[in-house]
Amino acid sequence: MSAPYLTRETGTIRKKWKGRFPVALLYPNTYPLAVSNLGFQLVYSLLNRQDRVVCERFVYPETPGPLRSLESARPLGDFPLVLGSISFEHDFFRLAGMLAAGGIEPYAAGRPQRVAPGTPLVVLGGAAVFMNPEPLAPFADLMVIGEAEPVLPDLVRELAPMVAEQAKRHHMHHALASRPGCYVPPLYRFSFSPTGVLDAIRHPATVPARVRKVVLERTGTASHSMQLSPDAELGMYMTELGRGCSRGCRFCAAGFIYRPPRLWSREAVVAALERRPQGVRRVGLLGMEMAESAVLDRIAGYLRDNNCSLSFSSLRADRISERLLCLLAASRLKSVAIAPDGCSERLRRLINKGLTERDLLQAARALVEAGIVHLKLYVMLGLPTETEEDLDEFIDLVHTLRERILPGGRKRGRVATITLSVNSFVPKPWTPFQYVSYGGLAPEAAMADRDGSRSVMALRQKIRYLRRGLKGIANLRFRADRPERVLQQAVFSRGDRRLAPVLLAMGSGGRSFRRAMREQGLDSWQYAIRPRQRDETMCWQILDHGIRAGYLWQEYQKAMQEQQTKPCDTARCRRCGVCNAFTAP
Ligand code: SF4
Repeated sequence: MSAPYLTRETGTIRKKWKGRFPVALLYPNTYPLAVSNLGFQLVYSLLNRQDRVVCERFVYPETPGPLRSLESARPLGDFPLVLGSISFEHDFFRLAGMLAAGGIEPYAAGRPQRVAPGTPLVVLGGAAVFMNPEPLAPFADLMVIGEAEPVLPDLVRELAPMVAEQAKRHHMHHALASRPGCYVPPLYRFSFSPTGVLDAIRHPATVPARVRKVVLERTGTASHSMQLSPDAELGMYMTELGRGCSRGCRFCAAGFIYRPPRLWSREAVVAALERRPQGVRRVGLLGMEMAESAVLDRIAGYLRDNNCSLSFSSLRADRISERLLCLLAASRLKSVAIAPDGCSERLRRLINKGLTERDLLQAARALVEAGIVHLKLYVMLGLPTETEEDLDEFIDLVHTLRERILPGGRKRGRVATITLSVNSFVPKPWTPFQYVSYGGLAPEAAMADRDGSRSVMALRQKIRYLRRGLKGIANLRFRADRPERVLQQAVFSRGDRRLAPVLLAMGSGGRSFRRAMREQGLDSWQYAIRPRQRDETMCWQILDHGIRAGYLWQEYQKAMQEQQTKPCDTARCRRCGVCNAFTAP
């Protein structure tokens, strides 16, 4: 199945194997998603930049069949080092399944001592891993905590001779455990109380009690697409404007785990844009939500001067300047997403989104008048304290928005449309909402909802309520997720290592989530519904993101009082502690 994909891909790296150290790079989802993932592309290129390394990709097979590398169709058993890049919790079980399908002993504890092809060292990394490594921890010999650039090239350089000398696995574990950004799960023991709450984390005195993440401080060339394919989910040349986000939205894990927010220099962004292959004109920018209007304007100017069109996944409604609108219009962009995220102005204060109804209405009108007549709106249900009044306010907002955009569409001879994407809110580690329940029930009700059914029901009812309230609006498409399915993501998101057998049963045994949980004697309530206490030790605190103790709880309290927190100002602010721990540009 790989061959047809690679015939359409540009930027594929093929190397001869002789004399080189083979590294398998796994993406636990299908090729169109893998090739759209900038982090996955980055690791592939970083490693292949080393002459002595040959790195080949494995993606999740779309049809049953043997697991083979994309580049040379070799089996996973030919590689002594296996890296997994995991961006999302819903891919966890596929990663477990890929290891098993590739003939690799899935659990690190069960792998033979000799590291070799067939009995490889398994290293996992990616955003989902440095948000919460624990559900996948039993599968990993090592986890990379943080961004790839400052860790991975040297790590692989160090591993190659160790593997060649057939160093013992447990020696490698100890040797790697004190490297910056390296977490070696087999050296840590987690114990749980009879009620299922984490009791203690034990480890040898020679390894750190917590593993501090590593971040890229600056770059001369912003990260950008290196493989392009018409099969990619996002069919464009992607360039990063920076990493992290300065806004501090309280629901967003990326906004916390990628701190400090870093905007790359204009030169670094332009250097990345100039590396696009000849003839490629469609450019996607990542990080637009953080970029100031002036920066966006300058980049917009570059793109216009170079006959490029601009695309992006979503845009902050208060970041739309005249110049940007002109570029968007010239780009013949058909649709843009704006994300109110919270149903009401009150909830947007609670989540620290900082967008008013006025911002949203103005942005929508301006976009449609510029010819971008298809708007997508993202909103979450199940936020803490959410009530029917919040939902009513949102229904009113959509009605008003529809009225405001109609004339702009008509002027252009087009029908303006709205696609509403309604998503169940998942509380994430390292956010001020890490303490709250999936489903949005009040703490007492959540404590009693032992099988999670009331939480799921509450979300379903809210979806129905919104659907009813918006019925009859012409040219409105309503899309909602299924709360019972999102419950699985909510479990994995704040999960611990007891979930590993569940992931394996789903990934290789074909079990459903519910059945796999039942077979392991685990319940969703423990992970997804149970409100967390202020003093509870969370399993993801094995990591150190530089966020000072108590900060997330404080932010949670501010949320409950609907108080706003200012955006990051890395030059002056030391509020959360990250800018003391890391150098922000
Ligand atoms: S210390 Fe301030 S500027 Fe730095 S990441 Fe934290 S909140 Fe943002």
